[in-house]
Amino acid sequence: MTVSTATEQQLTDQEAELSRAYEDILAKGLSLDLTRGKPSSAQLDLSAGLETALAGDYALADGTDSRNYGGLLGIPEARAFGAEILGLSPEEVMVGGNSSLLLMYQYLDFAHRDGAAGPGSSWQDEARAANERVKFLCPVPGYDRHFTICEQLGIEMIPVPLGGEGPDMDFVEAQVAGDLLIKGIWCVPRNSNPTGHTYSDKVVTRMAELPARAGANFRIFWDDAYAVHPLVEKPRPLLSLMGEARRLGNQAGVVITSSTSKITWAGAGISFLATATENLRAFEKHLSAAMIGPDKVNQLRHVRFFRNLDGLSAHMEKHRQILLPKFELAQSLLERTLAGKGMMEWSQPEGGYFISCEVLPGLASKVVELAGKAGVKLTPAGATFPYRRDPEDSNIRLAPTFPPIAELEEALAVFVTCVQLASVRDQLSRRFGRSEQRAGQHGFLAAAPRP
Ligand code: PLP
Repeated sequence: MTVSTATEQQLTDQEAELSRAYEDILAKGLSLDLTRGKPSSAQLDLSAGLETALAGDYALADGTDSRNYGGLLGIPEARAFGAEILGLSPEEVMVGGNSSLLLMYQYLDFAHRDGAAGPGSSWQDEARAANERVKFLCPVPGYDRHFTICEQLGIEMIPVPLGGEGPDMDFVEAQVAGDLLIKGIWCVPRNSNPTGHTYSDKVVTRMAELPARAGANFRIFWDDAYAVHPLVEKPRPLLSLMGEARRLGNQAGVVITSSTSKITWAGAGISFLATATENLRAFEKHLSAAMIGPDKVNQLRHVRFFRNLDGLSAHMEKHRQILLPKFELAQSLLERTLAGKGMMEWSQPEGGYFISCEVLPGLASKVVELAGKAGVKLTPAGATFPYRRDPEDSNIRLAPTFPPIAELEEALAVFVTCVQLASVRDQLSRRFGRSEQRAGQHGFLAAAPRP
């Protein structure tokens, strides 16, 4: 029996039982949080060796003292390391401070206001001349901070359906062909935030063709934040966007970012931005007005700590061993409590930091509200969509990485109670006209008296 085939009596009984369970949760006065896509303390501890990695030796391979000014694009060792991780050549990669989001913001702002390809290439100027706005394509559900950047710069966002293979490329191609002021697309191509999907080869190939199909100075923002974050032993490989784009002569349209935020320390890692070398030169010139060089000491200790890609892989396997039990717990709890009930579908990610849930249309904000009142903070409904507007009000992002396992279990138990309660009440209201006016203490039906 699913929630949509249950009789009124069955739903009424379920509602009473769930209301009682919810009352019991309220009485506990919980304070739990499932919003934070952050590494746990145990994960941060894996990188304690950063502290001693330099042992007083600050010299780069070429003899430069890393403690001094300079080297705006990062130290050669770190550029080579980033290139190895992302499958690129070191001249295409710059290395920054702890935040790749900052690099995305700076690059986008540069392209928007000044023009990333020299005089006459500003997106904003082109849009003003046409008395229109710059637009961006935003696969949804997606990463809220990408959308915040667009919102802040006044760039209009166009949602794009995201499926298991990646964005709907028929839709994307039709959009860029029809509007030359669409200047970019946000992509999290591997273990995506929040759905966990990795783009198929076909999607990557079609993506690489986009800069030639779109208006001038189009950029694909390829945010490979979860490049080395598999939960499975043999992750599905991601085809190289830069490789494909280079083959077609479209490399200037590619901007790849990543960081060690969920590899070492989120607050003290290093970040990467990779693009065609001519783009990098222009970006370097732009940045030079704002800074003389990044924290090269941190870059050097990261390289010394990992040594090479094998060192990084061994380190990521330790992360996986910490994360796997949390994701397995979440999957088994969701399966046990919600499978076959027709109340929610959810992703089973092979990597990354999130589980993406689809509750019945119109119920995401209700579930988040019920959970919030019960002391479990969830990512606000709508956060995974441009302008925080989920047209179906159905997507909820769960972040199981940060809480200790016992807290995670308790928070998820509250979450599934809220999903069930909201779903049953919704059915009673929709199918049987039971209304909020008959509200009990906390919902629309009074819980049956305790036996
Ligand atoms: N990109 C994605 C897709 C993310 O999920 C996150 C953090 O959650 C970031 C970027 C932030 O990266 P950074 O810490 O390097 O700024």
